[in-house]
Amino acid sequence: MNKKLIYLDNNATTPCDPRVIEAMTPYFYELHGNAASRNHPFGWRSEEAVDYAREQIANLIQVDPKEIIFTSGATEADNLALKGVYEMYSRKGNHIITLETEHKAVLDSCKKIEKMGGEVTYLKVDRLGRVNLQELEDAIKDTTILVSIMWANNETGVIQDMKAIGEICARKGVLFMSDATQAVGKIPTFPKEMGIHLMAFTAHKMYGPKGVGALFVNRKNPRVKVTSQMDGGGHERGMRSGTLNVPGIVGFGKAAEIAAKEMESENQRLAGLRDKLEKALVDKLEETYVNGDVDNRMAHVTNLSFKHVEGEGLMMTFNQEIGVSSGSACTSASLEPSYVLIALGLGDDLAHSSIRFSLGRFTTEEEIDYTIDQIVNGVNHMRDLSPIWEMYKEGVDLDSIVWEEH
Ligand SMILES: *Cc1c(COP(=O)(O)O)cnc(C)c1O
Repeated sequence: MNKKLIYLDNNATTPCDPRVIEAMTPYFYELHGNAASRNHPFGWRSEEAVDYAREQIANLIQVDPKEIIFTSGATEADNLALKGVYEMYSRKGNHIITLETEHKAVLDSCKKIEKMGGEVTYLKVDRLGRVNLQELEDAIKDTTILVSIMWANNETGVIQDMKAIGEICARKGVLFMSDATQAVGKIPTFPKEMGIHLMAFTAHKMYGPKGVGALFVNRKNPRVKVTSQMDGGGHERGMRSGTLNVPGIVGFGKAAEIAAKEMESENQRLAGLRDKLEKALVDKLEETYVNGDVDNRMAHVTNLSFKHVEGEGLMMTFNQEIGVSSGSACTSASLEPSYVLIALGLGDDLAHSSIRFSLGRFTTEEEIDYTIDQIVNGVNHMRDLSPIWEMYKEGVDLDSIVWEEH
């Protein structure tokens, strides 16, 4: 049988839609001008293309095009929002609130802000991955300037109650920022409806190119400003200097236009495929658990733990063919369980035995059927080899065993 490659890691990055590539292509050569060249047609054409893309993106999230600041991606947009607000609003206060389950781009920016003298509260989430609204409200104090809460989690797909969070922030008079990277282009994400003042997202998670993203910055009621983190020519209303990535921005715009049109039907298709995959694995494999809030979740994501099966090892049984992500991250010396799953209250064992499947626009039903077979075989194979699984099947209470330390 010829080996096929199946990509189920769309939360890590998505392939470029061919329509996006087609839109971008002319801007590498024929239309190569610098959008900041104000005095000749090469520059004008690129500027027009950027303006058009800005409108396409603004349209997707229902904001004014002037409120879109282009960046190199969501990491940069998160950095700009957090550090930029911290610097700009330092006279008002130095306290920021975020979640333990945020992306590293947010968490590490917050760590840097702490080093610069700021104070950061990292809120816990519940077993389903959701923030407790009362705890959030109680954490806001006089010195709080910003609440930063992601729209949808990259590992579990869990969606937060953005509207309720926005209302709390409005009532308390603090700015609300969201890393919406995993949500934009997949579900309706209208920051103005949610009371969000700053929102980070990126093209390569929504079938656009890598290396281009945006920060939405609210311009009216209130007029929000961020201190630039990149000094130079004063591009993007002074908030982000640097020559614009014109082909990337054109592709980003096209990706936004496609997403706005196709999101609804695509979500139905993806939910069908995701549910088929999830149900088959849970039904066919005992001791399989779904991680995160299944009632508030992105349609294309399922994060599963296969008890007593080490995720990285399981992946080796099929990763020549299927690209997924495990709930462990290789740090310098050891395999660390996912901090997101640990924050949900999973033990190390269940966190280590998790796999994230993230489907996408180009996932087919045939691929899902094949994946089900491969995962079922892989898990059964691993368990057949596992002394722990054998003990579990024999009814040994594994929690009562005291393992020897080496
Ligand atoms: C991918 C991702 C980022 C980083 O985006 P880049 O454009 O790759 O820098 C930030 N936040 C979340 C939630 C993500 O999934």
